Amino acid sequence: MRTARNDVVGAGGTGRNRCGSWRGLARALAGVAMALVVVSCADSGIEGAEGSARADASAHVREDAGVVAATFTILADFTSKIAGDRMEVRALTPVGAEVHEHELRPRDFVNIEEADVVLYNGYMIEQWMPQVRQVARDEVELHAVAELTGADTIPIRLGEFEGVPDPHLWMNPALAIRYVEVIRDILVELDPDGRVVYERNASEYIEELEELKAELEEAFAAIAEERRVLITSEAAFLYFADAFGFVHDGVWGTNHEDEGTPEQLARVMDIVTDRRPGAIFYESTISDRHIRSISDDTGVPVAGPLYVDSVSEPHGEAPTYLEMMRLNAERIVDALGE
Ligand SMILES: [Zn+2]
Repeated sequence: MRTARNDVVGAGGTGRNRCGSWRGLARALAGVAMALVVVSCADSGIEGAEGSARADASAHVREDAGVVAATFTILADFTSKIAGDRMEVRALTPVGAEVHEHELRPRDFVNIEEADVVLYNGYMIEQWMPQVRQVARDEVELHAVAELTGADTIPIRLGEFEGVPDPHLWMNPALAIRYVEVIRDILVELDPDGRVVYERNASEYIEELEELKAELEEAFAAIAEERRVLITSEAAFLYFADAFGFVHDGVWGTNHEDEGTPEQLARVMDIVTDRRPGAIFYESTISDRHIRSISDDTGVPVAGPLYVDSVSEPHGEAPTYLEMMRLNAERIVDALGE
């Protein structure tokens, strides 16, 4: 990933037209911070450290590649699969971090300012989008990929945001395919010369997503229907549960509300006591302490982590969407199967 970081700094010299003097100042400061980050990471020799600029460490891009900023790693993964070497894809939220309540860091200002297009999920998962709009160049478009799929949404079922569309549509592979189609069309519009590449890459990736869907359906067939009870910290598996026939609940409805209040814990404790699932799960971006305390009180074991809002580090156990979905399936089958 060192090359990618250098790319980020180096891209500062491409002479794109920037606007607003305060932005120039922010950018200059961000540049200094970036340089420090590059030096310290080079010193540590850690590859794929927090905040990797690209979702896919193996991606090599052309000299004249455009820049796509994607708000989180899963969207960046989809995009880099389609973009091939024609676009450099930069994730804003770092690997393993909170996408709901991300705070822009110096490198995010650089990445947003240099972006030719910004892709975000929408349905309010990125509570910080107004800041992105402020930083992006005026002519740069921001596209809410999940909203553009036109897919039917499932409302958040509990908590402060009950009734509003749940944003985690990508957890259903059939809807992930819709994301890919939307991203493909955005890239074609941005870079019409790349149409053939984007269309070919998208259709190859869609085939892989279809295989994934079939594979997961087959894997979950090993879990008897009455054992398909998926309890997690954030109730972020609504679309997944809908696709694969699970009953799903969480301690809280969405990560941008209070997490783990006594009322929330008491409510889910009752469900766990009543349903006695094979295990209860925590997610990779969230502390496991609430799930562990429910486990202590009910005797139902803990399993996980499951991946939802982020993939893992490039050299971690689930660096892509495909790998994260397979790993989730494996963990769920292990814990809930006979
Ligand atoms: Zn989430």
